[in-house]
Formats: sequence, structure tokens, C-alpha cells
Amino acid sequence: MPHIIDGKAVSQKIKSEIKAEVDLLKGGAGRVPGLAVVIAGDDPASKIYVKNKISGCAEVGFFSVHKEFDGNVSKSTLIETVSELNADENIDGILVQLPLPKGLNPDEILPFIDVKKDVDGLSAYQQGLLLQGNPDLISCTPNGVIELLKSANIEIAGKNAVVIGRSNMVGKPMAMLLLRENATVTICHSKTKDLKNTVSKADIVVAAIGRARFVTADMIKEGAVVIDVGMNRVDGKLCGDVDYENVKEKAAAITPVPGGVGPMTITMLLKNTLESFKKKNNLL
Ligand code: NAP
Repeated sequence: MPHIIDGKAVSQKIKSEIKAEVDLLKGGAGRVPGLAVVIAGDDPASKIYVKNKISGCAEVGFFSVHKEFDGNVSKSTLIETVSELNADENIDGILVQLPLPKGLNPDEILPFIDVKKDVDGLSAYQQGLLLQGNPDLISCTPNGVIELLKSANIEIAGKNAVVIGRSNMVGKPMAMLLLRENATVTICHSKTKDLKNTVSKADIVVAAIGRARFVTADMIKEGAVVIDVGMNRVDGKLCGDVDYENVKEKAAAITPVPGGVGPMTITMLLKNTLESFKKKNNLL
């Protein structure tokens, strides 16, 4: 039987640690950490993510602000909102929920977030620091994956790691973090030739593709560690990028969907907000 990496349990443990730290630090700072979430439009999945982020804040004792706009909001209103939040002393982290409604380009709005409040770790500054091997606020989902691997005592150094996907949000920062842990990293994408051959040599596979059950058992080496970042809806049910039922028969360790990487993303967002709060208040 493979080790099923329980993202809910790991996430709960980290949230308890964050809450304990907030209780300890709030006296010294005279306030608790604050997170602002900006959402535009009525994408149902985004609304659920935002609701979970706000309730995550309440769980660990953070202050949170929720700025909601309809799908017709202008670029200038969003930039103005971000600028106000940048100046707000009670806010340590700002997140603009993606995707934005049609007609709004995130590249024209996200760069206005103060890089020190970029708790999603998506700015060129934060991603540049990661690329240089000196990260500050790390992109939440890949950071959560590293936490999961460590929680399961999986050795990363010297291992062949294959990341499928090269998005700025998941694939690329994931590869940089694995490299930082001294894995030998290969990044695969839609133009990769003979993906199966590359993936079948991996000791650690991270799937971040966005295609339900794309990674099948015949691609996986016996005893590999398989991390499924994918979140796809199939017949109304959440489903990963990995064919979990069959792959788990070969894997040494695997994350389920739901209950694997998903819960870690919000927890890492809370962790980044706490880090930003500590830095601002010289509490590091
Ligand atoms: P994305 O921006 O759409 O990137 C998908 C990547 O997969 C691209 O790099 C693409 O290659 C690659 N790809 C697509 N088809 C492929 C194929 N046939 N063979 C090999 N590579 C292929 O998606 P994302 O934002 O990285 O998200 C990936 C998945 O993770 C989605 O299911 C998303 O919902 C999920 N996700 C989950 C969390 C969480 O909290 N669990 C957070 C973020 C995202 P090209 O670059 O060549 O197009």
C-alpha cells in the first residue's frame, strides 16, 4: 500500500502553528496579520476559493478584507483598490483572485500589488528571488507541495523530479523549489516529445496540467512519489491530473484529490501573510 499523503492533516497542523504564533505576536505588534482578497466577476469556483481564504483567515486569527466587484469593473478601479490596500497599514497580504473577467488582463493589474504584500508570490520580484535561490514569499501551491513531501519524510536531494506543467503559478516555481532542494529537475509541457518516457524515469512526479486523469499507471516507475496538483471537474466531481486508483498501485507515496495539495494552498497563503506581517513589524 502506498503512503497516502494527507494534505488536510498537514494543513491543519500548520494552521495550528500559525494561530499559536499569531496569539504570541499580536501583543507586540498591537494588531493581527491582515489579508485582503480582491475578486471581480461571478466565477463560481473563484467565489468558493475566496470564501475559503476568508474563513482560513478567521481560523488562524487574522484580520481579513474582502473587496468584491461585478464583472464589469474597470481596470482603473481594480488598480485603485490595490493601491489603497498597498497603503493600508493593517494589510500584510493582497491577493487578486484569478481568473479575472474577460477583458481584464492580470498582467496589467497584478504588477500594482506592493511586492512585499505579494502573498501569492506571483510578482516578477518574488519569482525572481526564487529563481536566484533566495526566495521570500513563495508561490503558495508549489510551496505546499514541498511541505507535503517533507511532512512525509520523502527525500528530495539527488532524486530525479519531473514537473508536468510550466505555468508561472505552479510548474515553474515548483521546478525551482525542487531544484533548491537539490533534486535533478525536468520540466515537461505540451510540446514535450515522449512524455511517457521522461515521466517513467522520475522518482518524484508533480502533475500540474489541468487534464483529468492524464497521468496513467504505465507512465509511472514502481515506487515513485506522485503529487497531483490538478483540480478538474468531471461530472460535477473534483478530480486530479493523475489516474489515482491505478497509479496508487505502483506509487510509494501519492496525494489524493481532494485532500492532497488543495488544502495546502490556502495554508501557505496564510503562512506568507504571517511572514509579511512579521517582517513589517520586525518580529523575525
Ligand atoms: P495552466 O496554466 O493551464 O498550465 C498547464 C500546463 O500544463 C502548461 O504548462 C501546459 O503546457 C501543460 N500541458 C497541457 N497539456 C499538456 C500535455 N498534453 N502534455 C504535457 N503538458 C501539458 O494550469 P496551472 O494554473 O498550472 O494549473 C494546473 C492544474 O493545477 C489545474 O488543474 C489547476 O486547476 C490546478 N491548480 C490547483 C491548485 C491547488 O490549490 N491544488 C492551485 C493552482 C492550480 P504549455 O505550457 O506547453 O501549454
